[in-house]
Amino acid sequence: MAWTIFLILSLLAPRGSARAEGFVSGEQSDALQSIGAAAAQLRTSSVLQDAKGGRAAAGGSSGEQRLPGCAALNRLWLGRFRAQLKPDWAAAPLACAKAQNVLSIEEIRDFDTARAAYVLDSTQWTDTSYASQPLVAGGGASAPPNMLEWVGSRIRALRYDTQAPYAYAEGGDGSIHLTPGDFKMETGIGLAAQFIHESRHLGFPAYGHVVCKVGDTIGYSNCDPTIAEDFGGGGSHAIAALWLVWIAHRSRWPAADRQQAADVANWVLKMRINDRAAADAFSMRYFAQHLPPEPASPSAVYGMYVWLIVRCVAGLPY
Ligand SMILES: [Zn+2]
Repeated sequence: MAWTIFLILSLLAPRGSARAEGFVSGEQSDALQSIGAAAAQLRTSSVLQDAKGGRAAAGGSSGEQRLPGCAALNRLWLGRFRAQLKPDWAAAPLACAKAQNVLSIEEIRDFDTARAAYVLDSTQWTDTSYASQPLVAGGGASAPPNMLEWVGSRIRALRYDTQAPYAYAEGGDGSIHLTPGDFKMETGIGLAAQFIHESRHLGFPAYGHVVCKVGDTIGYSNCDPTIAEDFGGGGSHAIAALWLVWIAHRSRWPAADRQQAADVANWVLKMRINDRAAADAFSMRYFAQHLPPEPASPSAVYGMYVWLIVRCVAGLPY
């Protein structure tokens, strides 16, 4: 925990080179880092219990969704998932036969990316609409479209960048750069949310953040103006938060993973949506509670997605 807090605080520290997120420049949208502290939580997730070993995919005793067995995930990875995400590294089968503790970073990278693709592609929804009391007149969100296809349609490449200090999205060539530090064997939900966030920056029409009027990064170009029930428009934070609340409340992923998704979405509502009334209405609709006060310390936040947000804060060097 100590190193976690240190890292978060160090990321939040002002930096001389910090600048607003420069999507308009076409160079990048924002820096991001996917894993960090929450990876430790996710490693204990029940999702992972089935993720590597190739056990049966579907159905726990409670009807929970599970990641597919390794052989099935491998087929998807080498086929449709790579085709959608367009990684710039050579195709290789998932290392299904190896123990987790001896996987290379490249093998972990492939597992994490494949899992994120699976979550984007194959999450099972328990219901398909929030038709009553729409936040937007005439609205009422239906279940997310196939978000793997959505992400795939917006990005031109997924790059494994061993030189970059942090992961980031690059508007110039429509790519997401991921670094070795982004891969630590996770369930896929956090990385999937990261892909959604960044893809919103990269696709057409592109999206850039606005200056924060709330949260812990006031004055930085790191927030969205509002949030709505729109999986195609709105801001990067807004779409990711919307998707996460669907994961939290309308998916069959294990309870621990859904709770973490809820925690992250809640954090985004508090810290990254300028329109507090809209964020509160969203919270009431999806969490049946008003937004709680902002946490006193960034260590109170959850989820790997938060690391991405923290990176946005620092405006690091992309
Ligand atoms: Zn962003």
